[in-house]
Amino acid sequence: MNKLLPTSTAGSLPKPSWLAQPETLWSPWKLQGEELIEGKQDALRVVLHDQQSSGIDIVSDGEQTRQHFVTTFIENLGGVDFEQRETVRIRDRYDASVPTVVGAVSRQRPVFVEDAKFLRAQTDRPIKWALPGPMTMIDTLYDNHYKSREKLAWEFAKILNQEAKELEAAGVDIIQFDEPAFNVFFDEVNDWGIAALEKAAEGLKCETAVHICYGYGIKANTDWKKSLGAEWRQYESVFPKLQKSTIDMISLECQHSRVPMDLIELLRGKKVMVGAIDVATDTIETPEEVAEILRKALQFVDADKLYPCTNCGMAPLSRSVARGKLTALSAGAAIVRSEISR
Ligand SMILES: [Zn+2]
Repeated sequence: MNKLLPTSTAGSLPKPSWLAQPETLWSPWKLQGEELIEGKQDALRVVLHDQQSSGIDIVSDGEQTRQHFVTTFIENLGGVDFEQRETVRIRDRYDASVPTVVGAVSRQRPVFVEDAKFLRAQTDRPIKWALPGPMTMIDTLYDNHYKSREKLAWEFAKILNQEAKELEAAGVDIIQFDEPAFNVFFDEVNDWGIAALEKAAEGLKCETAVHICYGYGIKANTDWKKSLGAEWRQYESVFPKLQKSTIDMISLECQHSRVPMDLIELLRGKKVMVGAIDVATDTIETPEEVAEILRKALQFVDADKLYPCTNCGMAPLSRSVARGKLTALSAGAAIVRSEISR
């Protein structure tokens, strides 16, 4: 992008209440069949409009076409039985009933490619598409087939690569892999997590990103954050490896987080999507609060590599709060843009 400090969001945006129960994760659809397909497309157009009218430069589908950022992708794969459920600990934090891997996993059909083509046809702005990362995918399943987290992650990486290549061909400019699990399983990240991520992104000519956050603003996550102490140094063990990786951009949580900003220095040379919007509160940031985070980040990332963003997805928020936050993000980025172009 030629524009300095291009803004974007980490991923999801709230769904309209006629499509799904608002302010809820895993919210069931309210429509069915053809009406659901049309409803998802209408919702995509609405969130696209919201992003463009609030001045967001790199736009997305706001995940209107999926129920959940991980589950919806897995639902379209072979080898996973959604009827056979087991309770597992997700990211070492909360228990959830999850589907079981019962055989070799495979991609039966393109998952988001038609949705990406639809988005591409609606806008001339650069578009970013989010996919779950391999490590985060295995963490939401019970594996009764491979019996190896590494092997299963590797198979998912190959599947993600097939999907990513078709998304690229559909005109997606940035493919982002969501890896909140990178903030939890540090040994695995080092042993095979980065390699699996690179496999998922292998051969892509569009830009690639990885989003690592402290999760949606749900209770299990906010309780976990309270237990992390005064300084959150989780990124410290992952960044040096990411800095050497083939991934182009790293998306981080910075607003109201206790992550020491100087950890960004460990990513020097990479593009950094700096989370300047807190998704765990309904309070809308002032443009000045957004600007303050960006100014701090500028001490550790070159201006042409700084991408103002949200901390995480905004699906659990109300639509009006999310719109307010999008506007604050643009306005805050504009303040800093004018300061550095002086
Ligand atoms: Zn996130």
